[in-house]
Amino acid sequence: MKNLDKIKNQIIEVGRRLYQKNYVAANNGNLSCRIDKKRILITPSGVNKGFMQADDLLITDREGRVLQGTLQPSSEIKLHLLIYKNREDVQSVCHAHSAYATAFACSQKSINCPILSDEIISLGKIAEVEYAPPGSQQLADNLLPWIKEHDAFLLENHGAVTTGETMTSAYYKMETLEHFARINYLVQQLGSAKTLNKEQISELLALRQQFNVSGNLNKFE
Ligand SMILES: [Zn+2]
Repeated sequence: MKNLDKIKNQIIEVGRRLYQKNYVAANNGNLSCRIDKKRILITPSGVNKGFMQADDLLITDREGRVLQGTLQPSSEIKLHLLIYKNREDVQSVCHAHSAYATAFACSQKSINCPILSDEIISLGKIAEVEYAPPGSQQLADNLLPWIKEHDAFLLENHGAVTTGETMTSAYYKMETLEHFARINYLVQQLGSAKTLNKEQISELLALRQQFNVSGNLNKFE
C-alpha cells in the first residue's frame, strides 16, 4: 500500500495550484488517486479545491461506495472510476475547467492543431469527447472509447481531464494542455499557423514513445 498521507498531501497541493492558476472556479474541478487495487482517494463535491483539508478527502471502493470520509464524493466519480478500470497504468486523474482548454471544448474548432512540438510529445492527440451533462453516466460512457489511447481529454461544453502515473504528472498534463490551448488560441489570432508536417509529427510521436512509459502511443491523426 502506498503512503496514504503522502497521496493526500499531493491532492491538497494540486487542488491549491488548480485554484491559484484559475483552472477551477468556486467548487468545481475534482482530483483522485488510486490507493491500491481496491480503493481510490477522491476530492469531495461542494468544497473549493484551493482550501481542502486532509479530512475532506474520501476513500471509496472501485464501485464508488464510500469507505471513509463524511462529505459526498465528487459528482464526477463515475468518470474517474471508469478510467481506473480501463487503464492499469493510470494512478491519478485531474479534472478542471481551465479557460483556454475549455474555450476549445466550447468551440467548433478542434484543439488538435499540430503546431507545438513539446505538446505532441507530452500529450499526443487530445481526445474530444461528445457532450453529456456533468456527473452523468452518459458522460463517462462517452469517454470510454477514448480512455485506452489518450492521456488528455476535452469534454465538450464543459472542461478538461488529464491522467497520469502520479497526481503531479496528471496535474502537469493539465498545465501543458492549458498552455498549449492558450498558444493555439494566440496562433489562430495571428493567422498563418506553421503546422508541423507528417514526418515531423511522426518524429515527435517516436520521441513520445521513447519517453512515455504509460503506454499511451496514440497516433496524431
Ligand atoms: Zn467539471
